[in-house]
Amino acid sequence: MPNGVTANERLMRLKWNTDSRIRSAKICKSFEKKIPDFMADCLENEDLEAFLDHLEECESCRDELSIQYLVDTGMDRLEKGEAFHLQKDLNAFIYTEQERLGRRKRLTIAAYGLEVITIFAFSASIVLAMLLWV
Ligand SMILES: [Zn+2]
Repeated sequence: MPNGVTANERLMRLKWNTDSRIRSAKICKSFEKKIPDFMADCLENEDLEAFLDHLEECESCRDELSIQYLVDTGMDRLEKGEAFHLQKDLNAFIYTEQERLGRRKRLTIAAYGLEVITIFAFSASIVLAMLLWV
């Protein structure tokens, strides 16, 4: 065999490529569905994170978001006679969402930390109560 690549290996590689293309098509489909929620700031942390991650790596989804942002926000603003700069405004909006996600994640961690402290304090008070009882 030339290059040491068997027909079987070539077939496997082809299948893998097709699989990954189908997989990313699925991700893009679910991304598209989340666009309205993203623009309304209704995505939960996990969804928002996945959304922003995919946005960074997928050009066609970036285009899709630009179009929907233009239709949704741009038209509205232009109708009101406000200034609108598609790419700049969209980037600013994405940046705000990234910041918000970071803040929410920190809050979640802080809440978790408080919970751990509460459980610890509660357990400690039980132990203390038992010690005093004896
Ligand atoms: Zn995509």
